[in-house]
Amino acid sequence: MTNYEDIFKKIISHCKEYGYVFQSSEIYDGLAAAYDYGPNGVELKNNIKQYWWKSMVNMHENIVGIDSSIFMHSKTWEASGHKDAFNDPLVDNRDSKKRYRADMLIEDHISKIEDKIAKECLKAAKRFGDSFNKEEFISTNNRVLERQKKIDDISNEMNLALNSNNLEKLKKIIEENDIKCPVSGTNNWTDVRQFNLMFKTQMGATADASSDLYLRPETAQGIFVNFLNVQKTARMKVPFGIAQIGKAFRNEIVARQFIFRMREFEQMEMQFFIRPGEEEKWYNYWKDVRMKWHLSLNLGDENYRFHDHENLAHYANAATDIEFKFPFGFKELEGIHSRTDFDLKAHQKHSGKKLQYFDSEIEKSYVPYVIETSIGLDRMFLTILSNSFKEEELENGESRIVLKIPSFLAPIKAAVLPLTKKDGMPQKAREIMQKLQSNFNCQYEEKDSIGKRYRRQDAIGTPYCITVDHQTLEDNTVTLRDRDVMSQCRVDIQKLNSIISEKVNLANYLE
Ligand code: ATP
Repeated sequence: MTNYEDIFKKIISHCKEYGYVFQSSEIYDGLAAAYDYGPNGVELKNNIKQYWWKSMVNMHENIVGIDSSIFMHSKTWEASGHKDAFNDPLVDNRDSKKRYRADMLIEDHISKIEDKIAKECLKAAKRFGDSFNKEEFISTNNRVLERQKKIDDISNEMNLALNSNNLEKLKKIIEENDIKCPVSGTNNWTDVRQFNLMFKTQMGATADASSDLYLRPETAQGIFVNFLNVQKTARMKVPFGIAQIGKAFRNEIVARQFIFRMREFEQMEMQFFIRPGEEEKWYNYWKDVRMKWHLSLNLGDENYRFHDHENLAHYANAATDIEFKFPFGFKELEGIHSRTDFDLKAHQKHSGKKLQYFDSEIEKSYVPYVIETSIGLDRMFLTILSNSFKEEELENGESRIVLKIPSFLAPIKAAVLPLTKKDGMPQKAREIMQKLQSNFNCQYEEKDSIGKRYRRQDAIGTPYCITVDHQTLEDNTVTLRDRDVMSQCRVDIQKLNSIISEKVNLANYLE
């Protein structure tokens, strides 16, 4: 097993052991690609939502929120194009009976060639030592050039095939490059077929076609159909945004990698309505704002990058992903899309209702253009967990597992721990709990040795442990232990509120 697979496995089992994430319906052997969030998971998830909502909605005068229903009129999905075009190309391996997304098989093949180039560079760097110039090596070494050409050719062909919906061509690319099934090791593939990702269900007791419904595959459409309701009632002027957090459902062909790709997940989306012609300016603006939001979490600037789309969705004229370095490599965390006036115009056409805005400054009515920011809450959760999971060797030869979650997002902010269950320490500890509880999520724990309790709180990611001992009963001071550096200091009980607040207060990050 490679190192990153090993670490990823550890993170998944840590999530279960410490009440972050459980497999859905586990007692029935689980349901694929569906997960439940446990007591610590739901706190972390709520904190992420709060950080996103406050920074996107409350900190922007011109953005407001909604919470639209998951069920929408089925015409919504005709208008949005999802009924016809929300497809992924599917291919089966006849020997392993495993199903794949054809484009992902090809992308994985490209990644392998990229890895080979990276290895060539490493070898050359060793050989040439200090005089190694990577730029020059990449642009002159024949083997690297050949590999790069191969990558460019395959990507171009794949983008052409995807854009023109040419499924035979996709199959040909798989065959010509001798791409094999990772399970059976053979290239015995079926034809490539389109597969619609929407879940269908029915409303009411009658079974005629008019009652067909879809579980929404994105929250965005709930915003578009409410565009005029919100604009009028909140008296918004273009440019303005509407934000929403909610569940989305996609019948993903391959759902692997834990909560990275689920069939039921949550999105945090914001649609920003602008004047036609201003899309480039606002697209770049939101790219910048969203990247800064990610970097504010201090998870390492080198772990983020933009990936511009060449193969655009049916509604977009420009699109980029903010990618994060997950344990399994750089993958999409958030999408920023310039959606033009596609959605509003389509809803206008299908509903027969005008969805226009009168811009009093230029005295003109128009259908606004839209820039969308769309981030998966569960992927954001995984970003934080996978980055904060650390196994540390301690000076005394022991080791610890600690979740160095940004303190303001941590599920539990402080644990209150009486050193023993005797001499009135539990009572004193409960008094402290009561003082802190209304400000921070705290946990009271008296079982096990103090060392064990510290380890447990480290593993949960609690920034502070407050220990009540004999001295506390005499002078009202406690030991305050810091999760990250494990330092301990004596502080007055009266000061606990302000010290903890300094570190965990969301407002400090928003500023
Ligand atoms: P991918 O290419 O990974 O399938 P996408 O481009 O289809 O993602 P979008 O439609 O742009 O994704 O959705 C916006 C965001 O929603 C993504 O950036 C991602 O964070 C999240 N998301 C999309 N699909 C899933 C899923 N199956 N499970 C969890 N999160 C998802």
